[in-house]
Amino acid sequence: MTKNIVVLGSLNADNIMKMPRMPLVGETMALTDVTTAPGGKGANQAVAAARQGANVSFIGAVGNDSNGQFMRATLLTNGVNVDAVTTNSDVPTGSAYIMLQENGANTILIHGGANQALTIADLDTNVIAQADTLIAQFEVPLEVIIAAFKIAKANNVQTILNPAPAVYELTPELMHVTDIILPNETEAQLLSGIAVENDEAVLNRVSNAILAKGVARGIITLGAAGSFVADGDKRWWVKPTKVDAVDTTGAGDTFIGTLASVVDRNFNNLDSAVARASIASAIAVTRAGAIPSIPTKDEVDGF
Ligand code: ATP
Repeated sequence: MTKNIVVLGSLNADNIMKMPRMPLVGETMALTDVTTAPGGKGANQAVAAARQGANVSFIGAVGNDSNGQFMRATLLTNGVNVDAVTTNSDVPTGSAYIMLQENGANTILIHGGANQALTIADLDTNVIAQADTLIAQFEVPLEVIIAAFKIAKANNVQTILNPAPAVYELTPELMHVTDIILPNETEAQLLSGIAVENDEAVLNRVSNAILAKGVARGIITLGAAGSFVADGDKRWWVKPTKVDAVDTTGAGDTFIGTLASVVDRNFNNLDSAVARASIASAIAVTRAGAIPSIPTKDEVDGF
């Protein structure tokens, strides 16, 4: 059955600036290249779910500018419904400035813009109520996420929380309306207060600490070490799909969008959904970029 998914999240224009090294304070330096790519965790996750064949609607905001048109067009091209994306004329579209050095290190600045100006009034209750699953990240205001999750739960819609970046606390109010939480390693460490290691006993302790905040399920994504799933009392480590990694950008977003596109209500098939998410995200790391690297359903089926 095709899943109906709503993503509440961020839309960013990513400005990727290639440079020999970071400039010193006061220095003027020439970039070796500059490109603009669509980004924002919300956009990436929506495209990932759509490429897996789900019906996806986006709730978010852009500014009244060319980046906003670019982000709307990106979603539309990928088959994501943008009827619930609002245009805010008071602020620019969200943007990220990615300083990519020759040695591969990157430093990122983000301007939330329209993402951070999103309000509860921008939520389309009907769109949420008709979904199977609502996904949110931490790149829009917390009160909007909580309000959306409350609408979802009142309408028997399951909720997936990606606490990225880990800027908000996992309050009882938020956890009460969250069905599953998916932090990466860094976020899991910040949220649990426990240093994450690729060790079963440690991952158990980290998962227990996160579930103790008041959520029934969680998955910690561990990059090249796979992912660790906690579902009630059950715990299992999904080993990574072996690939030659080229660029891990968007791996986590591909994992989440894919998981949402296949997981059933009540999470009865969580095991196979995580296995599929793990394959999709492994394919994504073999290719450059975020959205360009996200695989289609056929590519995952054929892997
Ligand atoms: P990003 O911020 O780069 O999008 P993330 O930190 O949110 O990523 P990760 O934990 O790095 O997410 O990766 C998500 C999933 O992608 C992992 O759980 C794993 O299944 C898969 N993955 C990531 N890196 C690799 C790799 N080198 N080889 C195979 N699978 C990988």
